[in-house]
Amino acid sequence: MKTSIFLTVASTTPLKKADLTFVKFNLQLRLKNCYNLDEGQIMAKSIKYYLKNLSWINSLFLLLTPPASITLTVLWIYFDGFDWRLLLLGIFFYILSGISITAGYHRLFAHKAYDAHPIVKIFFLVFGAAAFQNSVLKWASDHRIHHSEVDTESDPYNINEGFFYAHMGWILLKEGNHFNDKYVKDLSRDKWVLFQHNHYFKIAGFFGILLPTLIGWLCFDTILGGLAIGALLKIVILHHSTFFINSLCHYIGTTPYTDSNTAKDSWFMALLTFGEGYHNFHHYFQADFRNGIKWFHFDPTKWLIQFLAKIKLAYKLKKTPDFKIMSAKLNMKLLQIKKGAKDIDDMAILEIEKMKEKAIESLRHLEELNRKYQTAKDKLPSFSVLEIKEKMALAKVEINYNLKKFEYLIQSYNSYRVA
Ligand SMILES: [Zn+2]
Ligand SMILES: [Zn+2]
Repeated sequence: MKTSIFLTVASTTPLKKADLTFVKFNLQLRLKNCYNLDEGQIMAKSIKYYLKNLSWINSLFLLLTPPASITLTVLWIYFDGFDWRLLLLGIFFYILSGISITAGYHRLFAHKAYDAHPIVKIFFLVFGAAAFQNSVLKWASDHRIHHSEVDTESDPYNINEGFFYAHMGWILLKEGNHFNDKYVKDLSRDKWVLFQHNHYFKIAGFFGILLPTLIGWLCFDTILGGLAIGALLKIVILHHSTFFINSLCHYIGTTPYTDSNTAKDSWFMALLTFGEGYHNFHHYFQADFRNGIKWFHFDPTKWLIQFLAKIKLAYKLKKTPDFKIMSAKLNMKLLQIKKGAKDIDDMAILEIEKMKEKAIESLRHLEELNRKYQTAKDKLPSFSVLEIKEKMALAKVEINYNLKKFEYLIQSYNSYRVA
């Protein structure tokens, strides 16, 4: 597809298509070479393109809410005086809507990583709408396309088109509307999802703006404070913390599970995004209800889902088997070795691969035994339970041994190469 567009650019047709190509596919250099345009001319053309293709409603909302929230905050402090209770009100609504986007819009609706009681669904639909990030149907359609077409021209927030484009530029343009009902057929059968879609602006306006403003007025005697902190500032911070997932989480961090796309793992980004910063894991195992898989990984969205499961309001939590996660990690390590090697020693690689397979197989075996143990521990005679436990202990020893040998072989192979 890129080749055909390049040919269009290179032909003698007017620059209309090329303008689009410039913004959409980052072909400044080609434009420059084909038309002999200087930097200033290219910039002028791109600005012209942006202006011509702006989605005015989205742009005005996204560009005006930040200065409006700051101005109103200053006016609130000036006229009514700072009140920390208003700050708490803002944080309260921020958490309600933020977690509704990550646990609701993202993991429940877009990925179906678990199922939830209708009360929970309705809560997420209401406070997710209050974050002003579109209805679940549109949000999930964009997000599912992002996962299936990641880093390509069809990815709605393709990071290869630049940081700004992936962060919010795509929403400013008319082409940002990627809604495709074929991606959300399952969701459009859900009556609550449809209701939210049809009444989106009313729900968002009431719960996102009117309710915090009313609480500010009725409880703390300040309309300005409620509007500035509980409504606008909350919306602005929520926007950008979600946008960070599409921009920074494809920009900074590590790639422990796959390097086949630009998604990265970063504990720092997890702090800013209710735990969504483990984005490399998420892109590889998108159906998993967790993003941070270790207990110490900061993933409040995962903790909320686990809590909901405990009180029977969430169920069918999807969890990737540990052996699959280990397999992805070890494969990445092996891949790095192969990429870094000039002259690959086939025998050494073969040996490392063998240890990798053995470690994965032992873990898979342990998980199978564990499943058997959990389902049968109350029904089987005690000697059979003891036998399973012994087998589990042996499998653990095997895993440790094989992993250590895998690491040792990798280290010795690296030091051999350096030497
Ligand atoms: Zn992503
Ligand atoms: Zn996702």
